[in-house]
Amino acid sequence: MLLADRIAFITGGGRGIGRAVALAFAREGARVALFARTAAEVERAARAIADECGVETAHAACDVSDREGVERAFAVARGRFGRGPDILVNNAGIAESAPLVKTTDEMWQRHLAINLNGAFYCTRAALPAMIERGWGRVINVASIAGKTGAPYIAAYSASKHGLLGLTRSVALEVARKGVTVNAICPGYVDTEMTTRAISNIEATTGRSAADALEAIRNMSAQRRLVTPEEVAALALLLASDEGRGITGQAINVDGGSVLS
Ligand code: NDP
Repeated sequence: MLLADRIAFITGGGRGIGRAVALAFAREGARVALFARTAAEVERAARAIADECGVETAHAACDVSDREGVERAFAVARGRFGRGPDILVNNAGIAESAPLVKTTDEMWQRHLAINLNGAFYCTRAALPAMIERGWGRVINVASIAGKTGAPYIAAYSASKHGLLGLTRSVALEVARKGVTVNAICPGYVDTEMTTRAISNIEATTGRSAADALEAIRNMSAQRRLVTPEEVAALALLLASDEGRGITGQAINVDGGSVLS
């Protein structure tokens, strides 16, 4: 068991990549706490993971862009586990698209508030426990959009570029305290977020869903979507003891979409 006795807090844990990461960690013995805005979804995921893996789980409704909400939700999980987290996965995120001149103030702020401020609030709330124990892992689910630009996603891309800056700076700050901080940069993953992107392409361009999916697949050198489980496999390596030498990195899981 790679993560026996570990406690992992996972934002956006109710579905998609976050849920796959939670399941992969729990299968390796970790106790996992799941957070997202939709209470019913995190509750369902937490129960299913507990049933399948026989580990204790926790869940709390939480909007990561609300600092006090994050602190309350973390207190719920600490109340259940007695401490934690050893591992924080900042995975909660949104992705909307619009040309820059049609990007409203609200859309811009929403991306920064959730994708960037959320990771800041959660990391700040989680680090003291890690530093105190001399062991910790912060894993930020960024995107290849954090490394390169693309049309119509300026708000999303800026938020993910910011997340990589946060990753690298904090990694250096805690490098000698037993804590690693890394980012995973997926390409298009087979989740609801990509389904919504396909619907958006359909609505804005009149292309069929099949054509939109084909265009997305063609962005990958492997001509396919990444699976949530493939992202989870890298998260597991980064979370494990064996991953201790990897810090401050932003690792692509993108089928060769971006060569960086
Ligand atoms: P999903 O939309 O399937 O899941 C997103 C998760 O984040 C949900 O659990 C959602 O729950 C939660 N979430 C969203 N906003 C908030 C918020 N304000 N506070 C707390 N939780 C929130 O997306 P994915 O699983 O695909 O995405 C996960 C991460 O991976 C995101 O950061 C995304 O940017 C990144 N990513 C995804 C890619 C893809 O192609 N799918 C590619 C590259 C990166 P709820 O809505 O209930 O709050």
